[in-house]
Amino acid sequence: MTQKMNVSGLLPNPPTGGILENIQSYLKNSGIPSYRFQQLVYSLQQGCIDFKDAKELPKPLREQLISEFGTTPIPLHIIESHSSKQVEKVLFETKAKAKIETVLSHYRTGWTSMCISSQCGCGLGCSFCATAAMGLMKNLTADEICAQVFHPYWQKRLPDSIAFMGMGEALANPNIFTAIEAFTAKGYGGISQRRITVSTVGFAPNLEQLVQKYPHVTITLSVHSPFSKQRAELIPLENKFPLADNLAVLNSYVKAFNRKVYLAYLLIKGINDTDEHLNALVDLIKSQYRPELYHVSVIRYNNALGANPAYQQPSAEGISKFVERLQSQGIHATRRTQFGSGIEAACGQLHAKYEQKRKGNK
Ligand code: SF4
Repeated sequence: MTQKMNVSGLLPNPPTGGILENIQSYLKNSGIPSYRFQQLVYSLQQGCIDFKDAKELPKPLREQLISEFGTTPIPLHIIESHSSKQVEKVLFETKAKAKIETVLSHYRTGWTSMCISSQCGCGLGCSFCATAAMGLMKNLTADEICAQVFHPYWQKRLPDSIAFMGMGEALANPNIFTAIEAFTAKGYGGISQRRITVSTVGFAPNLEQLVQKYPHVTITLSVHSPFSKQRAELIPLENKFPLADNLAVLNSYVKAFNRKVYLAYLLIKGINDTDEHLNALVDLIKSQYRPELYHVSVIRYNNALGANPAYQQPSAEGISKFVERLQSQGIHATRRTQFGSGIEAACGQLHAKYEQKRKGNK
């Protein structure tokens, strides 16, 4: 590529706080013309991993960048990958050796959706979750969150949609705001806010911030039990930010933006699948402002390494009945499609298996 190539639309304003912003200001302060930064962005979009391979840039500038920022601006490398017909799953490692999971699902319609991690491990201790057993190792930086999507492993294929549903509680990590800025930036990610889903167990203050800053991002709030005491056993964060506080945020959001919101309900056999639960869930939704804008995604519990061993997977029939009975009471409800149980695609599972294997080899 020569200087004449038009790269002017490429990320003129990189997201605040990420490495690209640092590189841009470094180049500016060094008196290097701005198109050099955009040539670098172009190289990254073409699948370049190391500065030395950014052939659009002159060699002395590549060397200058290496001495200033290290060999690569991409902070993740691949430890393991697994593929099935519908799912590709990657275990990445950060420069600090933290391991995180990313899953790309392929749907029959040709649609692709990427499930990304926001933290390595998680400190919120939900009793049904494999990631909880690891505890919180670190909040991912915005660059680490973005690299899961932009990594050259995917061969320049950006997913049609992105979901913060991998390891970690997305709203416990403020860096997701910078990452969303990068995903939606024109000339970079270019992904519509509507195609980004943030899933949360209910981090109410940051949920409020999210809906104000990115009102078109899709929100999924985990309910898992309509009863506060039981919900706190499943999701201890209930004790700090109760479901009612989170629903209050969502009600104001629905009022202001007329947008649909999703409530996740993880169905666990004999725990939260009784008539009493179903009726209380229906009443809860009907008591919201515009209940027709609330959609319940019922998820079948998969036995997870490190989760409470008393929890059991419900039968396929049990889950279908639960969904049908919600629907018969006027609630919008569907069963969430889950791919990849054969390759441990549930959140935290691949990491747990990797650690198990590693310890077994010692
Ligand atoms: S379900 Fe989410 S918030 Fe709860 S422990 Fe697992 S990763 Fe953390």
